[in-house]
Amino acid sequence: MRLANKTALITGGSSGIGLATARRFVAEGANVAITGRDAGRLESVARELGPRALALVADATDIAATEAAVARAAERFGKLDILFANAGIPGATPAGASRLEVFEQVIRTNLTGVFFTVQATLPHLKDGASIILNGSVISVLGNPGYSAYAASKAGVRAMARVLASELSPRGIRVNVVAPGAIRTPIWGAAIATPEAEKMFETRIAATTPLGHIGEPDHIAGTVLFLASDDAAHIQGQELFVDGGATSSP
Ligand code: NDP
Repeated sequence: MRLANKTALITGGSSGIGLATARRFVAEGANVAITGRDAGRLESVARELGPRALALVADATDIAATEAAVARAAERFGKLDILFANAGIPGATPAGASRLEVFEQVIRTNLTGVFFTVQATLPHLKDGASIILNGSVISVLGNPGYSAYAASKAGVRAMARVLASELSPRGIRVNVVAPGAIRTPIWGAAIATPEAEKMFETRIAATTPLGHIGEPDHIAGTVLFLASDDAAHIQGQELFVDGGATSSP
């Protein structure tokens, strides 16, 4: 029980990496508040997680809704110990076809939304708390189609360093987990059929030294580590969890 008596807020906790992390946190004794936009999915996930989970509908691009959700989580559980700012969208479009609305939506969700979630959480965070932001290997790999996404995730890395400096006096740690390709619904059509998923896995395996796609639990385990006292001296870092994808030239 590495998180006994701790409370965590996980944005985008109803699917993929956020959901795997919520499951892991609950198993380790934490109370968990999860956010997302789809109320039905959130409710069903909260039922699965049990009485220590609280589902809060909040769009990360809506700063007022985010503030309200954070306040409700703090009201229900008391002070917050952990924030996993995880909600994100890909919005993959080649540069020649990119539209301003899509570009801005990606930045607003993955970067602006993360910043204002952290800001809303600060008054409720205990001194010594842990903030983990979700980055991506795409911020360094330059995959075609991902201009907005890569920029948003590079921004997350830069922002984490600033936040780490600002929050160190309170003992609040701020780190980034940067996943490689992880099997979640974010990949949409690429994994919509068993045949498509097989092709996708083969493509990912070819560019991953460990030779396979990542699973949500690989990231959840890393987030648990960064949230826990085992990471008490890790500050302002980005941890790549990518099967080696960024390890070779
Ligand atoms: P999923 O699509 O499985 O989950 C995304 C979650 O975010 C859902 O709970 C979704 O709920 C929520 N979400 C999306 N937009 C918003 C929003 N505007 N406000 C609130 N919640 C929102 O994707 P993953 O689990 O794969 O992605 C989670 C994070 O991991 C993202 O930041 C992504 O960029 C990052 N990542 C993922 C990788 C991968 O290969 N899977 C690789 C690298 C990074 P709802 O739709 O109900 O709002």
